Amino acid sequence: MRLGRCGLCLQQKELQNSHLLPAALYRQFRDPSAWSNPNPVLVTNLRAFTSSQQLSSPFLCADCESRFSVNGENYVVIQCANRDGSFNLRELLQSASPLLEDKTNQIAIYDVHRLLGTKVDQYLYFSTSVFWRASAHRWKIGGERIGQISLGEQYQEQFRLYLLGQAAFPENARIYVHVSSETHIPLTVTTVPTTFRMGRAHRHKFCIPGVLFILFLGSEVSKTFDDLALNGSKQQIMWICQWQKDSLLRGILKRMQSAIPTGNLRKGKG
Ligand SMILES: [Zn+2]
Repeated sequence: MRLGRCGLCLQQKELQNSHLLPAALYRQFRDPSAWSNPNPVLVTNLRAFTSSQQLSSPFLCADCESRFSVNGENYVVIQCANRDGSFNLRELLQSASPLLEDKTNQIAIYDVHRLLGTKVDQYLYFSTSVFWRASAHRWKIGGERIGQISLGEQYQEQFRLYLLGQAAFPENARIYVHVSSETHIPLTVTTVPTTFRMGRAHRHKFCIPGVLFILFLGSEVSKTFDDLALNGSKQQIMWICQWQKDSLLRGILKRMQSAIPTGNLRKGKG
């Protein structure tokens, strides 16, 4: 048992072995038939790791872990691309008529307000919880820091209060959701959050199989990025588009091909 201050509720509690990315994802995508390397691939800016077990550390109490599960993870993980070929979220979007469609560039934009109802909140909560976790804690694999982004002190605190249920969603944040249109999705790829600077705004991204989450953060974001966001003021949007055209994912697909796991990571323990 390890006592400490929980990163979310800030109370002295017994800390759990918390994960940066949902443990449920790893369980869902482990391939028991791949004896040499049963774990999914976790990709960072520099390398690909094949062991899932090490990106975890004592960080949150059991109550806060459960908050994350119930308010987002449990639902969202089941909706992403699965190794049995199902992809609930994409199937749901494709069952509706897009609000806008660009067939040449294979982009379709859906207003998900009616399709998803209150489930929209699960996507917002889930993605925010991952971005916040990456900013609020130092995650390490074998002593090397992985997946650290900075939301900035003020925004990090706003997100913490939102995730605790004590404040509304931060006003200066917009979440975009890009669902992969590709037939062959690299199912086992999950990325840790990364950050790009765009003028006055910051753009943070991470993906789970088939679903890319982008967080725009900054004082002008509520004007410039409102129209096509999941938490837009007028509509709630999700995209179906080609991941190949996304800078982050293009890089990942390349690294996947050249990645050679090193050291004990090769064993893919766990
Ligand atoms: Zn807590």
